[in-house]
Amino acid sequence: MILTGLAGFFAFLIFYDLFKGSKPLRHYDAFDIGYLITLTTLCVACAWTPYKFWTFEKTLSKHASTFAKRPGVNVTCTSVFESIFDQYDMTNAGTAYIEAGEIVFQHGWCKQFMEYLEDPAQPSEKELFSMHVFTHEVMHIRGESDERKTDCQAIQRNHLLGEQLGINRRIARRNAVKYYKTQYPKHPYFSKDCGPRKKYDERLSGSIWRDL
Ligand SMILES: [Zn+2]
Repeated sequence: MILTGLAGFFAFLIFYDLFKGSKPLRHYDAFDIGYLITLTTLCVACAWTPYKFWTFEKTLSKHASTFAKRPGVNVTCTSVFESIFDQYDMTNAGTAYIEAGEIVFQHGWCKQFMEYLEDPAQPSEKELFSMHVFTHEVMHIRGESDERKTDCQAIQRNHLLGEQLGINRRIARRNAVKYYKTQYPKHPYFSKDCGPRKKYDERLSGSIWRDL
């Protein structure tokens, strides 16, 4: 928000300088041109991050809608200032508002997820978790509110949603299995009922269970 405001402020200064009319463009000296180049650079630098997150939110919204089979799902990432105290809070990484069809991703996790999708081959623990958070919230959007059940639905679909987002099938599967084996047992929503032939097993085709 602050960066967007600053970008707008610099854009205003550029337009003010160009159109105030006190000096025709052809009379601009090196200082004037240097001033305009500096303002333009600052404007683009401030606008770049908000733009990148805005396009990422649009992409995630589209994929969440398709995966949840629910039109109009809206995904937003909080600003860095909104999540300054809980950048990597694991239980508050994302929030789904089931009725409204909205998912809110904490800034830090949103950034991790962006980095994960750019290079999913060797993910860090945080990147791996960010994929799971997204799938978890999409499962809520389908209507499930029980946390352990939702989490197990996500465990069984991390690779499918990853693939839909463009990750290579083999990598998406390997990462989903890695998350299940390494991070899931330590998570507060862990359930012993989440596994092959257990209570929450949905017996999906292409399940990750056979790769365990
Ligand atoms: Zn949840």
